[in-house]
Amino acid sequence: MSRHPSGAAAPQLRVIAGATAGTTALAPDATAVSPVARHRMERLGVELDVLEMVPFSDPDAAYAPAMALEKRARALGDEDALRRAQLIQADVLCRKGKHTASGQLIREINEWATERGQRHLMARSHRLLSVFFDFIGDVPSAWEHAVPAVDLLDDSMPERMRADHLFGLGQVLVRTGAWDAARERYRAALQLADGLDDVPLRVKILNNLAWLEDDAGDTHQSMEIAKRMQAFAERHNITLDAACLDTIANAQLKLGLYAEAEATLRPILDDPHLDTRPIEGLGEALNTAASAQRLQGHMADAGATLDRCIQLCARRGMVAIRVEALEERACLFAAQGLFQRAYEQHIEFHAEDAALRAAQREANARTLQAVFETTEARREGERFRQLSLRDALTGLRNRRHVDTELPLLLARSREDGSPLSIGLVDLDHFKQVNDRFSHAVGDKVLVRVSGILAAATAESGWAARMGGEEFLLVFPAIGLDEALRRCEDVRRAIGSVAWDGAMEGQTVTASIGFTVLQKGRASQAALLGQADRNLYAAKRQGRNRVVSDFA
Ligand code: GH3
Ligand code: MG
Ligand code: MG
Repeated sequence: MSRHPSGAAAPQLRVIAGATAGTTALAPDATAVSPVARHRMERLGVELDVLEMVPFSDPDAAYAPAMALEKRARALGDEDALRRAQLIQADVLCRKGKHTASGQLIREINEWATERGQRHLMARSHRLLSVFFDFIGDVPSAWEHAVPAVDLLDDSMPERMRADHLFGLGQVLVRTGAWDAARERYRAALQLADGLDDVPLRVKILNNLAWLEDDAGDTHQSMEIAKRMQAFAERHNITLDAACLDTIANAQLKLGLYAEAEATLRPILDDPHLDTRPIEGLGEALNTAASAQRLQGHMADAGATLDRCIQLCARRGMVAIRVEALEERACLFAAQGLFQRAYEQHIEFHAEDAALRAAQREANARTLQAVFETTEARREGERFRQLSLRDALTGLRNRRHVDTELPLLLARSREDGSPLSIGLVDLDHFKQVNDRFSHAVGDKVLVRVSGILAAATAESGWAARMGGEEFLLVFPAIGLDEALRRCEDVRRAIGSVAWDGAMEGQTVTASIGFTVLQKGRASQAALLGQADRNLYAAKRQGRNRVVSDFA
């Protein structure tokens, strides 16, 4: 049975106060801070560098400090630091099984960082998105985020973070069965950890390397590395946790060293306080011990160990481990010749296994929906709103946009006296383009003309398609002479397009009716009406010209 190596413990529920995702208005930007504040921000950055690496090995130890750092960041008006502190809280939440709350916060911060090109936060949030997806069993997405988490690293970031991100990529690669690539990342991470003399990280990486070899089918190599881990821990006087002991025992079991495997797990078997120990690897260790006892023929011991395991699962909500224990109990009954009971136990195991998988799938789907689809829906809604204010063929604003925006501009102009002018553009003899070439060619002309109109209003104002081959140019806040000049430029630009394809050698021209907002012509209808009359005058005067009623 494949297990989560350390660093990705099966999630366990424990309620923690929710992270504060809201953004509050912050103090002025960093360029305006005093040397004292700058010093405080730098110190905050260093503390964040350290705290960012804590949830990985000790989630409980990171939450309160992260909240304190968030508070300090807020007081300093340091938004980057604020987000980093929130991201640490999200990391803890994720490792505590609060996937929805965590995923939402990580995603929000990832978007925030990406928008601003904030590399450190981008890299961190990609790393955590990878952890998030790994937890909910979506390996391809975990991979998608683990890669940028490494790619975004640069020399300004701490070595410890580099090691962590390489390690994360290694973990995802293991899930995909890419042993060589995973081994390479683990070894690179290990080298960094050696250089940093980070003992807990070195143990963790060795533990994962051992599982990698086990997954890859090389039990001897797995044993080799597990022994290295054990010797290393002894040298540094640290006690291996249940997960690491289970790694060693697992290799021993597979090599037929049953008594040794049981001996390795003795500290867990003899521990009367399992209920209060960190949960990682506990249930797995008990199941491995039960197998070792069964394979030595110690059936009563094995039964007792399994009972203990199942009770622990009930008390600490370890559903997946319980299913493994049921399977082991079926094996135990069979080994005792109790085939009827073995069969019944196997049926129970199978039913629970199926139910567990279904429940996990459902929970994962719900989490994904809560974290992703809501944002997606919001974004889609915004996109549709935008689309409905745009013309489908040309991408310019449409008539609806004109009807909502122009009155606002009129009101503002009336209030503060700022200039506002418009140009109504109509292509000349456009029907002929359609008739002589095709409607499709006509469409291409409209699109090309729209590009010219959009460019003319790019820095101020906007262009809209009123319908057919009629467009509106709106120039708020620029002088009338300047606006009129732009209309002239537009007219000239349209007339001088060098058309290609079917239209090669042809010329398309436009007539423009220009007018400005002035007293007594305050309504949209009045303004557009005047522009229309000027346009009509331009047509009558021979087309391809701009006519203004404004001297
Ligand atoms: P003028 O304005 O110079 O008086 O002549 P015109 O030929 O442009 O006259 P009119 O405004 O009557 O004709 C507009 C033509 O534009 C009619 C229609 O075939 C064409 N048209 C309107 N909308 C579209 C469109 O979306 N695509 C294409 N290809 N043609 C369109
Ligand atoms: Mg026309
Ligand atoms: Mg027309």
